[in-house]
Amino acid sequence: MICEAQLPPSTLVTVDRNVARNPLLAILRERCVALNQTHMKVITFCLFLLLSHNLFSQDIKEAYETRPLSQFVGYYNVGIKPNKPFFKSRWYLKDGALYTIYDSDIDRKFEPYSGGKLSYNVVYDEKDLPEIKESDTTYYVVLTFKKDRLEQFKVIRPRKEWPTDLYGYRIPELDELAVNAEKQMTQELRTDNFRFIYSRKDDLFVKSFSSKIESLYNRLLDEFRSEPLPVTTYKLYPDLESYHNGVLTPGAPEWQKGRVWTENEIKLVSPTYLETELNEPISDDLLIHEYVHIIHWNKFGDPGNIPKWLWEGVALYKGCCAWDDIDQLDYLKKEKFPSLKKINWNGEFQYQLGYYLIEFIDAKWGWEKVIELMTNNGDIEVTLSLSVKTFEKEFYDYLKNEYLNK
Ligand SMILES: [Zn+2]
Repeated sequence: MICEAQLPPSTLVTVDRNVARNPLLAILRERCVALNQTHMKVITFCLFLLLSHNLFSQDIKEAYETRPLSQFVGYYNVGIKPNKPFFKSRWYLKDGALYTIYDSDIDRKFEPYSGGKLSYNVVYDEKDLPEIKESDTTYYVVLTFKKDRLEQFKVIRPRKEWPTDLYGYRIPELDELAVNAEKQMTQELRTDNFRFIYSRKDDLFVKSFSSKIESLYNRLLDEFRSEPLPVTTYKLYPDLESYHNGVLTPGAPEWQKGRVWTENEIKLVSPTYLETELNEPISDDLLIHEYVHIIHWNKFGDPGNIPKWLWEGVALYKGCCAWDDIDQLDYLKKEKFPSLKKINWNGEFQYQLGYYLIEFIDAKWGWEKVIELMTNNGDIEVTLSLSVKTFEKEFYDYLKNEYLNK
């Protein structure tokens, strides 16, 4: 064909693709076919039209493809099945870039576009996904917008690492909280084994606590027969609201003040804030308690698999703190003693009884058995050679003798 004969082979492909896609171009192309060698000027014009139309449609496509990152900002309910949320994710802007954070994960930069186009692993329509193989290690993201807001997303995770995908749904009431929760935490202090990220209000506290925890580091590791650990980060949020936002539980009850976030990161409310705003005496205890959790996690594995009575018990016993006035607890006075199973399902029981459970094991069998129990992930029968029922009975006898009947 005459028109095509004037074009280098690579351009031919482009024109052909556009013809297949665009009826207007098909008409132009038909006209070109009708021309002959003596109409070179017309041919050139024809080519110009073809190519400029091609560029123009590209512009429109790109304008549609890239949306301002502010349209992604929001709080999302997330679950591993559609419409079955069980945790939250916050998407926010920092220094003009988009970040996402999921429970127990670090803040991750998310770049949906590269070079003015959707990144290769991001689509607006699931139909546009490439064929995904079992061996694929890419995370694919499907974005669904409603007007100028991201409404839903799906993260297709590599099957080798995850058996499930993630489904996210915007929570419009939390739009205002979809911000960088750590904006005020501009201070950083590094010691040999710890890093502190905090706001100015904790300058003094961090200065004194950082040397205290460094001085406890070797003793705590020795207690758990642990190798040296990678640097642990303490993040101190300047108030309750920013802390609850930092751990993705906006509006949580006031007593939630700290938790381990990853195997080497702890998030807490500023101790200085607790003292000045809530009149709670400034204390290192909660921070040490959380560090015992970090040792437990690093040495003995994922806390999701560790029985809660053991997880909290050990951190209460070696970190902090025994429950005061144990003899005043109603259910103990009435001798309605909860089983280990019940303790596992009830946070209050864990904090009230956890310290004493570990103390009892230490007193009767010695600290090495506590370590062995941690290695066996709380398996009483294997570690202590007695049934769980007998263990429970002996524990409550100990509690009665030592604390309740005095
Ligand atoms: Zn704890």
